[in-house]
Amino acid sequence: MTSSGQYPKNAPEIYGVVGYPVNHSLSPGMHNAAFKSLGINANYLAFEIKPDVLPLFLKQLNKLGISGVNLTLPHKEIAYKYLRNMSKEARETGTVNTIKNTNGKLFGESTDAYGLLASLKEEFKLTSLKNKSILLLGAGGAASAVAGKLASSGIKTLYIANRTQEKAVRLAEKTESSSSTRCFVIPLDDKAVSMVISDVDLLINATSSGLKLTDKPPVTWSALRKGLLVYDMIYNPPITPLLKEAKKAGAICANGLGMLLHQGARAFTIWTGKKAPLTVMRNALSKSVKSSCKQKS
Ligand code: NAP
Repeated sequence: MTSSGQYPKNAPEIYGVVGYPVNHSLSPGMHNAAFKSLGINANYLAFEIKPDVLPLFLKQLNKLGISGVNLTLPHKEIAYKYLRNMSKEARETGTVNTIKNTNGKLFGESTDAYGLLASLKEEFKLTSLKNKSILLLGAGGAASAVAGKLASSGIKTLYIANRTQEKAVRLAEKTESSSSTRCFVIPLDDKAVSMVISDVDLLINATSSGLKLTDKPPVTWSALRKGLLVYDMIYNPPITPLLKEAKKAGAICANGLGMLLHQGARAFTIWTGKKAPLTVMRNALSKSVKSSCKQKS
């Protein structure tokens, strides 16, 4: 900023990811590679903001010269409560993970479900979810962000299993009230999962259990089956404790890197109006994951 309080004309546009903590985020590498490849004069940064300060930070977004942000843990629901203008999808999910600032007017979007569906299509060739049965593990922000979209994609049954069962019940009621999908809440344990697994086409892990290799998997191989599609939203570590168990059971597995890529690509288009350079973004992400795995080992 100049001494007159103005930004110089050739200053880069500023974007970023806001989280607490945020230093693990792979989004800066992915978005900066995308800006560079399209010759866009912009910088994508990581902002570590405590949850109680988030509303103040968002209020100052325009003054800070920030054109857009992504929100990650634990900010998606706080941003939803703070914003007035948002897309239908954000309103339905109760979460905001992308904000565009147009001259001080903030607009919220939720791109997680878009990212998940694009990734399922890519990883499992799942072009349609019509009449499928899905078991969703988790009832937090990520699960809430995708449950409605899964239901509106025409799935037959949605089983929801969460450590805190009341949250699963609330999510099931909300999902069922806005779709014709049948929702069932089951306990998050091997016994309950093995009772429904023959009816399940796709299991999605939306719990944060698995972020550490030492985490106990939310379900083990004995409750899973051969040929089951298992998608873990976690992408780092790339092979989570759940994916290890799923492989042991002969399931077909994918981690959440594709979801991260496609939600980010959607945010990029919302901010710039341009088609996201997917290959460049994918390569940047793979590079970051490899280097983060090296640092951990
Ligand atoms: P969140 O709102 O904090 O919810 C966490 C969920 O995990 C809750 O359902 C919680 O259950 C459950 N959980 C936490 N620790 C557990 C444990 N030890 N055993 C069993 N369940 C446990 O987080 P979120 O935003 O939903 O994110 C969930 C995961 O999805 C994170 O790992 C995040 O990295 C990932 N994610 C990935 C992408 C992507 O682009 N790939 C996008 C969004 C999120 P309770 O309700 O009982 O606490």
